[in-house]
Amino acid sequence: MKNKGLGRKWFICSLVVILAALSLAGCGGEKKDAPALEAAKERGKLIIGVKYDTNLFGLKDPATGEVNGFDVDIAKAIAKKVFGDETKLELREVTSKTRIPLLQNGDIDAIIATMTITEEREQQVDFTDVYFNAGQSLLVKKGSPIGSIEDVKKGVKVLAVKGSTSAKNVREKAPEAEVLEFENYQEAFAALKAGKGEALTTDNSILYGMMKQDPSYEVAGGNFTDEPYGIALRNGDKDFAKLINDLLKEMKQSGEYDKIYEQWMGEKPTK
Ligand code: GLU
Repeated sequence: MKNKGLGRKWFICSLVVILAALSLAGCGGEKKDAPALEAAKERGKLIIGVKYDTNLFGLKDPATGEVNGFDVDIAKAIAKKVFGDETKLELREVTSKTRIPLLQNGDIDAIIATMTITEEREQQVDFTDVYFNAGQSLLVKKGSPIGSIEDVKKGVKVLAVKGSTSAKNVREKAPEAEVLEFENYQEAFAALKAGKGEALTTDNSILYGMMKQDPSYEVAGGNFTDEPYGIALRNGDKDFAKLINDLLKEMKQSGEYDKIYEQWMGEKPTK
C-alpha cells in the first residue's frame, strides 16, 4: 500500500517536471520573442513577409518563380544593410489577413507588404517610419457609371480583400453598399473581371498595378483615405526598427529610394 502511494507521488512529480520543461522549451521552432536581427544573424538570412499577388509591390512570376516589386526591393536593401549581401534573404508569402499572425508566430522577421500604419495594428506590432504614401480609391471598368465613392450606394457590390483597411474603410464610407471579401488581390481582381461586383477598392497604388495588368479598368475618383505604409516588426524590436529607419533615411539621401520608386511607380515620389 505504502509503495503504491509513493508510486503515485512519483508519477505526479514527474508529470509536473515534464510539463514545466515543455512550457519552458516552447513548442519548438524559433523563439518568437527573440529580436529578429539576432535570429536572422544566427540563421544567416532574413525572412521577410511580402505579397505575392500585388503588382508593383510584390508579385510572383509563375514562369520564373521570382517575386518582384517595390516592397521586395526594400527587403533586398535591408538584407544588404544587415549582411552586405542582398541575397541573404528569404521571401515568404503573406496576405493582408495572414501577415500579423505570421509575424507574431516568429515565421517571419518583418512584414513589408503594402501595410498601412493604423492605431489598431499598433496594438499588435511595431511600425517603422512611413516608407510609402498611398490612399484608398476605387477600380472600375472603363465607362462605368461609378465615378467616385459618392456613387457607391445601395445595390452596388464592392470587392475588397480580407484583413485590409480597405474592407473596413469602405463599410464606413459607403455603408449601404454590399462588400464582398476575397483572400488576396488577384482573386478580387478576377472577381471584378468576372462581373461579381461593380468596383474593387484598395490603395490607389495597388489599383494602378491592376490597371497596368488590364487597361480596360480605371481608377475612379481620388483617394478617400490616407494609407501610409510602414514595415511591421514584432513589439519591442527596437534595434531592427532603428536599423531600418536609418536605412530609409540613407536611401532617400543617396537617391536609391527615388530610383526604385520611379522604377516601379513610373514617376518620382511626391515630397
Ligand atoms: N494598405 C491597406 C492595408 O494595409 C490595403 C493594402 C493591403 O491589403 O495590404 O490594409
